[in-house]
Amino acid sequence: MGPPGAGKGTQAKVICEQKKVPQISTGDILREAAKEGTEKGLKAKEIMDSGRLVSDEIVIDIIKDRIQKDDCKNGFLLDGFPRTRIQADALKKLLEDLNLKLDHVINIDVPGEELIKRLLNRAKIEGRTDDNKTTIENRIRVYQEKTQELIDYYSKMGILKNINGLGTPGDVTSKIKQVLNN
Ligand code: AMP
Repeated sequence: MGPPGAGKGTQAKVICEQKKVPQISTGDILREAAKEGTEKGLKAKEIMDSGRLVSDEIVIDIIKDRIQKDDCKNGFLLDGFPRTRIQADALKKLLEDLNLKLDHVINIDVPGEELIKRLLNRAKIEGRTDDNKTTIENRIRVYQEKTQELIDYYSKMGILKNINGLGTPGDVTSKIKQVLNN
């Protein structure tokens, strides 16, 4: 978990390589669908480019299918999901049905000004169409309105670990690894 620009994708990639589990990023899956140009994918792209969230129903279906694939047998890492209370409740139910449990929820904490700086920089490097100033501000607002409450939700479940997301990517990875190994 963490706001846009916190480094979720970067960290998820490294952790997944080390733990040998798949990285399940709803953002990546949606961007792939958009690239394929299907009707659903193009609709998702329009929403993503505006900074809003794709419907709960769509992302819950994506996760439901994905976590039942063979490569998830020894665990998986969710990156960018859940993002709403409805998604978190759906995940809880889904995991219960599959007899699985969440071991850790990692929240990467980064202050607002730093996020905008990082996202504008990413826009130059990766050319993501949702990394422009207006969309970035929307995404941060949407995060505050819809996703931030999940920090409390997972904190009450006793599985939330807060990580300071400032510093180099390597520094942040070390902090996450410490938490995962404890
Ligand atoms: P990300 O790559 O995680 O920053 O996601 C990029 C965009 O994909 C978001 O701004 C949303 O429009 C969409 N998206 C990704 N994950 C979700 C999710 N769990 N729920 C709704 N929309 C999502």
